[in-house]
Order: sequence, then C-alpha cells, then structure tokens
Amino acid sequence: MKIKDIPQKLADIRREDRFRAVHDLRMITASRGVDRSGKEYIVFNSNDYLGMTHEKEVEEAARNAVIYGTGSGGARLTSGAVFELSDLEKEIARFKHKEDAVIFNTGYMTNLGVLYALAGPGDVIFSDELNHASIVDGCRISRAAGKVYFHSDMGALEKLLEETPCQGQRFIVTDGVFSMDGDVADLPGLVKLKEKYDAFLIVDDAHATGVIGNTGRGTAEYYHMEGIDLQVGTLSKSLGAEGGFAAADRTITDYLRNCSRPFIFSTSISAVTGATALAALKLLEENPEKYMGALRRNTKYMKEGLTKAGISFLPGDTSIIPIVMGREEAAMEYAARCKERGILLSAIRPPSVPKGTSRIRLTVTAAHTRAELDKALEVMIDEIQGTRPVSPT
Ligand SMILES: *Cc1c(COP(=O)(O)O)cnc(C)c1O
Repeated sequence: MKIKDIPQKLADIRREDRFRAVHDLRMITASRGVDRSGKEYIVFNSNDYLGMTHEKEVEEAARNAVIYGTGSGGARLTSGAVFELSDLEKEIARFKHKEDAVIFNTGYMTNLGVLYALAGPGDVIFSDELNHASIVDGCRISRAAGKVYFHSDMGALEKLLEETPCQGQRFIVTDGVFSMDGDVADLPGLVKLKEKYDAFLIVDDAHATGVIGNTGRGTAEYYHMEGIDLQVGTLSKSLGAEGGFAAADRTITDYLRNCSRPFIFSTSISAVTGATALAALKLLEENPEKYMGALRRNTKYMKEGLTKAGISFLPGDTSIIPIVMGREEAAMEYAARCKERGILLSAIRPPSVPKGTSRIRLTVTAAHTRAELDKALEVMIDEIQGTRPVSPT
C-alpha cells in the first residue's frame, strides 16, 4: 500500500461500517464512567474484574509511590530499575508458584518479548486458533514456524505435533481463559501432550489471574495441577494497573532480561504503577473471598437474570458473558441502544470473532452493585425484543 492510498482505505473502512474511534470515558468508580458531555454509564466492558482500580488501599499505594517519580526515567537495565518492580516480580513468582518473574510494560509486549526471545527459526509454535492477537504477533516476529490448531481440540493438536517436523524446540501456546468466549483451556490435555512431545508450554492467564482458581492463581489452580512452563499474565486486568509478566524457572527469566528486546529497549513502567499492582495483589491474597466471592456472586446473579429472561449465552466458568447475535448489525445496534440507556457493553464482530458469530460481550466485575446489575438486566431484557440472540451450539 502507498501512503497516498490511505484515504481510499479509510473510505472503504467507513463504507463497511468498520471505522473505529476513541470515545473518552472517565471512570468515577470501578463500575461507572462519564463521557465528555457528562452522561453517566454503568460499565460492562471493562477488564477491571476485581474493581482494584478504585480500591482505597490501592489508590493510597499509588499516591505514596509518586514521590519516587511520576515516570521511571529509563529501561530496567539502566535508570528505570525502580524497587517496586523487583518487589512485584518476587510477589508474582510466589503467587504463581514459579522461581522468578519478569515484568514487561504491557501484556501485549510480554507475549512479543517471550516468543521473540525464546523461539526462532527451526522451532515450531503450536497455537490455539482463538489465541489473543499478542500471541499471534509474537509468533510472527519470532520467525519460528507457526501451526494453528482448532480451538481446544487436543486431537487436532496431537496430530499437528505428530506430523510437523521440528529440529529445534516445540512450543505450545494458549490463552488460559479465552477472551471472546470466556472458556478455560484444557490444561490437563495440554500438559499430557507437552510431556509426550517434549514441548515447552506457555499459558497466558491475562483473563484467568484473579478470576479462576480458589485464590485467583489462574488456570493451574483451577485444575489443581502444575505443568505450565511459562506463565504469562497482565497487571492490567484483575490487578488494576498496567503491565505484564512472564513467570518461569530462573534460567528462563534471566535469559529474558538479557535477550528480550521489549524488556531491554523500552522505558519501564513507573514506581506508581508497580506499587499499584503490588497493593492489588496484596489485597487479593489477603482476602480472596471478598474479591473473588463478589465476582462469582455478581456473575451468577447476572447469568441467572439473563437465563430467566430467555437470553442465552456461551457457557463458561468466568465472568465473560458472550451473547451471540449472529449478524454484525444486530450486535452493533443492540449495544448502541443499551448505551443510549446508560449501559456500556461491547459489540464484537469479525475479525475478532468468526463471521456469523458477532456478539455482545459483557463482563461482570466484583465492583458492580446489585442495583447496577438490576439496571443492566432491565435495559438488556427490554431491548432484546426483535434481536433474539442465537442459541449457543
Ligand atoms: C488483554 C490480553 C493481553 C494484553 O494485555 P495488556 O496488558 O492489555 O497489553 C494479552 N493476552 C491476553 C490473553 C489478553 O486477554
């Protein structure tokens, strides 16, 4: 594409009704936001699963850390080596039952940084077809061969493992909780195959940390098993901050600090951000029942309310509730009508999801009050006439 062709490309995007723009939203609580006109919304498309972004103790930790600078001033290997990030790495390693952890600036950069550093020509990466875009992009820049298997299909994965020649290292990479469907990866199946085929297993628990497992440790805890070689996660969802992490054996984390370009060549997140995530992790560990209990109760209440009204959604053990509408316009129009009435939901359409499965994606958090859930149910049920969702298959 030539730069002079961009106006035409943009016109095509607009004609197909795919043009996207940022709509400013200021979160005034963990579940409510206002736009520039002052209109208030109850927010059901946030990843702030535990409401940590507005917890008093977390806010206070952020305020206290600001005396160490509003920015970190450099990369971790130079002047950006703030105490809070090393402390956080220790805490995350302990929480995830790993020897060590490395903090990256975002979850997205973590997947790029891990796959770029560990995989290369001669290696093969086996990747679930529904994996997050950052895993897809990490596979691309690694220059390893990529093999995509049907979603959570262990038979298909085994067949690929068997028939794909590999002189180097095999990697299996998967989301722990899949972001658009809200289902959990088949960890027992993956561990069995990674052992049989001597593969290195990477699980990205961005949507699983703080959400599944009794204490929020994620996919491994959900199945009461270990076996994940490298655990990717984010500080930006249940931990109320921004940043990502990779937790693994120390040889791996040392190697990442030495050879992962997104770690080496980018200014680190600040002491404020580190202190925020540390405080959120501490709250979660001290009182998993308070946060995860609220998340589970709210999710159950929402799912029961929808079911009672005859609104079906994809099943799953998480607080991601996908209501499949089929046509793109149906999902877009429904989300727009709910927004008009103060309820923010996401309409998800291709290429994020397969054609014909455009959907409403609603995330419940621990921070929603009963009144907010009731309001959302009232609006969603009221607006559903004429746009019956497709039954999950
Ligand atoms: C959200 C998400 C990421 C990206 O994390 P950020 O911290 O937002 O960059 C990576 N992987 C998965 C599976 C995600 O859901």
